[in-house]
Amino acid sequence: MSPTLVIGSGNKKKGRELSELVGPLGIAVLTLADFPRLPPVDETGRTFADNAALKAVGYARQLRHWVLADDSGLCVDALGGLPGVDSALYAGRHGDDEANNDKLLAELGDAPPDRRTAYYVCHVVLADPAGAIRFRTEDYCRGRIVRERDGSGGFGYDPLFEIVEYHRTFGTLSPAVKACISHRARAMRKLLPMLEQLASTGALG
Ligand code: IMP
Repeated sequence: MSPTLVIGSGNKKKGRELSELVGPLGIAVLTLADFPRLPPVDETGRTFADNAALKAVGYARQLRHWVLADDSGLCVDALGGLPGVDSALYAGRHGDDEANNDKLLAELGDAPPDRRTAYYVCHVVLADPAGAIRFRTEDYCRGRIVRERDGSGGFGYDPLFEIVEYHRTFGTLSPAVKACISHRARAMRKLLPMLEQLASTGALG
């Protein structure tokens, strides 16, 4: 059996990004979609760190397997850090990206570029099959919210999130660029040496 890691997320696009980041290590990935009867872990924390830990520990205990959980979101400076930890349900319905983007554009109105700065956060937690946290880290990606959607790449707020140095949103930049500079890529890069070691010692199956 090849080394396998469970991603504690039902978000297919997030799962794909994480899967592509660990793929070069020869690690296969399962997501919650592979366990349709698993009771969901409630994200009751008020921080990215708490929710990532809840998901990693909760799913690892249920599955008795190594679980990687990412809790992530968008923080807009002029909105005092909102949508923040509630990014997925900003407009009310969990994972409704279109409504979330509409609400964000409405909240920012015609604010000038220097009032549209924002950053993505990704907190990553790795839990072992007993549910003990073995690694945690966080990283960021800075950008700016544009005035209208541009592109269909990525997911969530990506069509509105401009990487200033590229003058392009994550909606139009290639997945390869996002895999280098995103909050998720930066956080995962710090975890890869440990995953490589776990895979080489047979701990991941
Ligand atoms: P989570 O699944 O509870 O961590 O919620 C993540 C939410 O944050 C997503 O539904 C998106 O709204 C937003 N988000 C996190 N990472 C990204 C990203 O890479 N691109 C766009 N939106 C993101």
